[in-house]
Amino acid sequence: MTPPIYLTSTFAFKAYDEHGGYEYSRTANPGRDLLADTLARLEGGAGAVVTASGMAAVDLVLSRVGRGDLVLAPHDCYGGTWRLLSMRRARGHFDVVFVDQSNAADLAAAFARKPALVLIETPSNPLMRVVDIAAIAAQAKKTGARVAVDNTFLSPALQRPIPLGADFVIHSTTKYLNGHSDVVGGAVIAADSAEIDELLLWANVTGVAGSPFDAYLTLRGLRTLFPRIERQQKSAMAVAAFLERQSAVASVNYPGLASHPQHALAKAQQTGFGAMLSFELAGGVEAVRQFVEAVAIFTLAESLGGVESLVAHPATMTHAGMGSEARRAAGISDGLLRLSVGLEAEADLLGDLETALAAIV
Ligand code: PLP
Repeated sequence: MTPPIYLTSTFAFKAYDEHGGYEYSRTANPGRDLLADTLARLEGGAGAVVTASGMAAVDLVLSRVGRGDLVLAPHDCYGGTWRLLSMRRARGHFDVVFVDQSNAADLAAAFARKPALVLIETPSNPLMRVVDIAAIAAQAKKTGARVAVDNTFLSPALQRPIPLGADFVIHSTTKYLNGHSDVVGGAVIAADSAEIDELLLWANVTGVAGSPFDAYLTLRGLRTLFPRIERQQKSAMAVAAFLERQSAVASVNYPGLASHPQHALAKAQQTGFGAMLSFELAGGVEAVRQFVEAVAIFTLAESLGGVESLVAHPATMTHAGMGSEARRAAGISDGLLRLSVGLEAEADLLGDLETALAAIV
């Protein structure tokens, strides 16, 4: 029932110029291939490439564009993605335009510049903005752009971008897919098998493959993906509704709330609202400090999607690399906190938040 783990860097050849299907683990490893096949089936893709981190997965997709090409990216993407795009642009590898993809006029203006690749993150990190994958993919098809969707926040349990028209799906498998905060990994799933060949070639050339042990652990975590996320999103809904009623909270960003600007789109595009949310404390940075020092069940830490609940302060943690100007442009304020809701008892989570909010003076 349990797949073996091949902790080997190399494989014995059968004979002169004849290997038995595997040569060297940078190129391919049976456990990593099993994870890739599983992810491709879950996302409805032709294949997948498993990488050593989510950032390596984003960068692998970026290997499909080059000098003179334009990448159209969301202005409120994950800070690490923003930094990678900005630093590659600064080195002249390609051009980038960051736009609010939920603003039709800004999106149309960016499409008029004929991007080669459109990067989508929905729901976005950390503002939980939702964009219409099928509509953007249709627009991209007309202008000849390829579309990559970072599906880290929902996983294929709740959203499948390839049937909606995406060419690539990106994952930080560090998050929900592994789900136990003990692996850093990533994956790219492609709709087209020719793309997989190109991506596999480049992953081998640059050596960004994930390790066999990480593939084993990620497969293990993946077996409980659906019940984990189901339970976590149930608690997240309760947390979001609770926070919305608190006077110390200025606003709550959760696609499951009727107050979310793209609630209807999330309902149509996703099969669940997920377990990530963010909220703005009315008291700003000082309230943030008091809140994060008072929580006991939520841990102040980066990352998300594990079985344990985490709280992060994007301005000083996940999105610090963006710089204050880009954060302001994206709407990420210093009073914003992001929650990853885990598997603890819902009553304990609500009690912890109540205690921490009461600690704000
Ligand atoms: N994409 C998203 C949406 C993320 O949240 C993250 C990490 O937080 C990444 C990509 C990068 O993944 P990794 O940390 O595994 O490199």
